[in-house]
Amino acid sequence: MLIEEDKSLKLLNTFGINAFAKYFVEIDSSDSAQSFFAERKFNSEKRLILGGGSNILFTQNFDGIVIKNNILGIEIIKEDEEYVWVKASAGTIWHQLVLYAVANNWGGIENLSLIPGLCGAAPMQNIGAYGVELKDVFISLEALNLESNQIQLFDHADCEFGYRESVFKNKSKNQFLILSITLKLHKKPTYNISYGAIETTLEHMKIMEPTVKSISDAVIQIRSSKLPNPAELGNAGSFFKNPEIPKEQHEQLQLQYPLLPSYKGTAFNHLKIPAGWLIEQCGWKGKVVGNTGSHKFQALVLVNYGNATGDEIFKLAQDIIASVKEKFGVVLTPEVNLV
Ligand SMILES: Cc1cc2nc3c(=O)[nH]c(=O)nc-3n(C[C@H](O)[C@H](O)[C@H](O)COP(=O)(O)OP(=O)(O)OC[C@H]3O[C@@H](n4cnc5c(N)ncnc54)[C@H](O)[C@@H]3O)c2cc1C
Repeated sequence: MLIEEDKSLKLLNTFGINAFAKYFVEIDSSDSAQSFFAERKFNSEKRLILGGGSNILFTQNFDGIVIKNNILGIEIIKEDEEYVWVKASAGTIWHQLVLYAVANNWGGIENLSLIPGLCGAAPMQNIGAYGVELKDVFISLEALNLESNQIQLFDHADCEFGYRESVFKNKSKNQFLILSITLKLHKKPTYNISYGAIETTLEHMKIMEPTVKSISDAVIQIRSSKLPNPAELGNAGSFFKNPEIPKEQHEQLQLQYPLLPSYKGTAFNHLKIPAGWLIEQCGWKGKVVGNTGSHKFQALVLVNYGNATGDEIFKLAQDIIASVKEKFGVVLTPEVNLV
């Protein structure tokens, strides 16, 4: 197994930050992952599992070993008249799994079309878009326990999914290498088109009877027109989570800001507020700060205009958090993993 030293990660993260890893290794099978960790050679080093690098901000060089997951493959493990159980290895590109489901007319993940990254990272933050989350189709995952070097099975409850959350971002952080995920997809799908602009986009496309394919196409169209392409402008999608605040606080804020948008929160008696709206109201939308800024169409997306360091983007994020807190008394938390 080739261990590289002082490896540039610039092409391995969608922010395009030129951070360096002290050591770097690529893993292409469960066996090679297990033999790598069995050696215990890098036991005393800090470890980072890297997928597509689309939800990471390197705020500094990584003083440890980066393990890039390249374990590929999609297989059907079970099916009946109504459902199919599909297992995808962690290094599979998420959108390729979506396209595979779409080609077979299996429903469940079409609303999650074009989310960047790999399947192994999808459970990390319970990826979600257009009213659907991974947890809606998730059955189980296999992960390598980095201490015991044994493969463990996590079912739905074990993953403790929440809004952009899972056990792997919390109490089991950095303890597992996710090897594969298994999803249950519908052979006779029902559709969720009420969220965002899906319905109107389908109308523009002159689609009367939605299908898995047409919904996926609509989502791809919306996302391509709305979100900056990381290949052209470094970014990691939404930088912050949408904050949830108690209903009473929302009522108070609404007296001052009658246009304050909100929708149902996940916690009891709480409402979710679009972080992008709060950031925009603080005047950040489209603002350029040195090599960084908040995107001109999507205030929630922080961008690298070319030569930003991770630290510059981190400082911009801190300034945004401070101004939203000062104006609204609401604390934003990053969705992006800070390393
Ligand atoms: C333009 C754009 C749009 C986006 N839109 C959305 C969206 O609509 N919805 C959404 O939910 N997200 C969105 N994202 C965020 C991102 O695409 C997802 O979070 C994605 O799942 C990250 O996958 P990745 O492979 O790039 O993970 P990485 O960025 O490589 O890693 C993310 C985290 O997961 C850990 N990790 C990665 N792989 C493994 C593994 N196999 N085992 C254990 N830990 C692992 C890493 O250590 C890190 O902490 C967007 C990002 C961009 C750039």
